[in-house]
Amino acid sequence: MADIVATLQRELGDCVCTRPEVLAAHRRDSWVLSELFDLEGRPAPLPGAVVEARSTEHVSRTLALCRKAGAPVVPFGGGSGVCGAIVVPEGAVVLSTRRLDGLRDLDAESLTATFGAGTNGMEAERAVEKQGLTMGHWPQSIELSTVGGWVATRAAGQFSTAYGNIEDLLLDLEVVLPDGSVLRTRRTPRASAGPDLRQLFLGSEGTLGVITEVTLSLRRQPQARRGQAFSFENLESGIEPIRRLMHAGWRPPVVRLYDAAETSRLFPEICPEGRALLILLHEGPTGAVDAQAAGVAAICGECGGEEVEDSVVDTWLETRNHVPSFRALLERGLILDTIEVASTWNRVAELYRNATESLRAVPGILIASAHSSHSYQSGTNLYITFVARPEKPEDRAEIYRECWRRTMEVALAVGAGISHHHGIGRVRRDVLSGEVGETGVALLRAVKRALDPDGLLNPGALLPE
Ligand SMILES: Cc1cc2nc3c(=O)[nH]c(=O)nc-3n(C[C@H](O)[C@H](O)[C@H](O)COP(=O)(O)OP(=O)(O)OC[C@H]3O[C@@H](n4cnc5c(N)ncnc54)[C@H](O)[C@@H]3O)c2cc1C
Repeated sequence: MADIVATLQRELGDCVCTRPEVLAAHRRDSWVLSELFDLEGRPAPLPGAVVEARSTEHVSRTLALCRKAGAPVVPFGGGSGVCGAIVVPEGAVVLSTRRLDGLRDLDAESLTATFGAGTNGMEAERAVEKQGLTMGHWPQSIELSTVGGWVATRAAGQFSTAYGNIEDLLLDLEVVLPDGSVLRTRRTPRASAGPDLRQLFLGSEGTLGVITEVTLSLRRQPQARRGQAFSFENLESGIEPIRRLMHAGWRPPVVRLYDAAETSRLFPEICPEGRALLILLHEGPTGAVDAQAAGVAAICGECGGEEVEDSVVDTWLETRNHVPSFRALLERGLILDTIEVASTWNRVAELYRNATESLRAVPGILIASAHSSHSYQSGTNLYITFVARPEKPEDRAEIYRECWRRTMEVALAVGAGISHHHGIGRVRRDVLSGEVGETGVALLRAVKRALDPDGLLNPGALLPE
């Protein structure tokens, strides 16, 4: 590996960094298990070098040189991934997109914006906001993640119910393939030109190429905005009005239903004890917002909803990106994670009941709760949270795996999808065949082999070993 670092330094000069603190900051993503291993004194290995590419040409040269030398390369955006897609093999080259950043083009007539793939999410939003526009893509990690990372993980934003997820906003992209060649898709509103090659890289988690540039479709800032909230007996009874409002054609950007446990934890002052809370945010032209709020209120009323003070929506808007640090909770002897799954409407209640019941049987479990935060015509997601405090802190990794194993087992048994938006990484790779079948895994392996025959791009992520 020392040879490839010297070669890269010779070819790419000061783009190549080997400072210990920079290597240490790039050895893993934000996966809880990696954080736990750090705390337990067994951190992920160090990379050999971090290449901070400044152009597509730099990315292309890095990949071509690494292929020639047989050196593994791991693309790195904001490092906010939570599934262990980044656990860098010892001495490997990290390809950081940090300096491939900034707004490169804004077409105010077509409402499109082109960003370097390493552009921080919040900086991207601020850049278009100045023109009265918005991406409409608000992942909770918007300040921690990059535009290229969103594509590589198939990310979802908090306003997705009206505006869609990253795959709906992505117009075109530039990707450097593992041999150094550059693929550029075409900027058209739609195409019928064979399979959509963008889909190959959406969710590819750095295993098939390095995304260098991304064009997103934008929208105008909404004229009006209005919050609304209702309480329901429990999560199951709150699901029905969401299904009905989606089928009626209403599309509030934010539709979030918290079960009673999450409601009393997150909004203790606002909602009656022991009830589930549905919060909604409507956006658009004033008349449309009012009509939608009235339509949704009627449906919620018919389904037994009780109106709650809408200031809860302002509270949510203000605090929605505040997340306690995993580290602080791990230091208190806890182990925890969130697991997002998705289901058609007919199976959501069963998925919720079976997953939370199964988690409650894990030794040391303190919390097994869920909310729904992204809805569709055909179904919704569930974002399941577990927190446990095993008797012996050294059992935490085992308890963590047990919670994941149980939740994945329930998801597959009821016919739900194993991941809504965080991706596969290492935490789900062994259940990928449950989602796409053995044939699907074989197909993904064949694509990987065709593009990256030596398996050098982000080895260990996505595909079962
Ligand atoms: C507090 C918190 C809240 C979160 N909230 C959300 C949320 O609301 N919605 C959501 O979808 N996710 C969320 N996430 C998960 C995470 O932020 C997303 O997966 C995000 O899209 C990752 O982007 P990143 O730039 O940090 O990617 P990284 O973590 O750096 O990388 C993720 C994967 O993509 C690959 N990759 C990164 N950039 C590129 C590139 N340019 N080309 C090719 N491969 C690349 C990496 O190799 C890796 O496999 C959250 C995470 C945290 C910590």
